[in-house]
Amino acid sequence: MIVKAARYKEDFRPIDEECSCYTCTHFSRAYVRHLITMNEILGMRLATIHSLHFYQELMAMARAAIFEDRYADFLDEMLPVLDRIVE
Ligand SMILES: [Zn+2]
Repeated sequence: MIVKAARYKEDFRPIDEECSCYTCTHFSRAYVRHLITMNEILGMRLATIHSLHFYQELMAMARAAIFEDRYADFLDEMLPVLDRIVE
């Protein structure tokens, strides 16, 4: 997701409605977009908090899949999800 896109200007949902990070539980896409477009450093900090949380959760799921010997199934599940996220 590119939160800087104009379509998020009045989007008051979190960046990711299923995410439990500080940014997603406290701020809207519109607010984060506003901060980033105004070059407020808080915007990048909030985006970074969300990104780090996402990758931390993704790696935890990958580790669990490896330990449970189902990494190939994990990849089959996650690759379509990751493709949708970067759209
Ligand atoms: Zn988040």
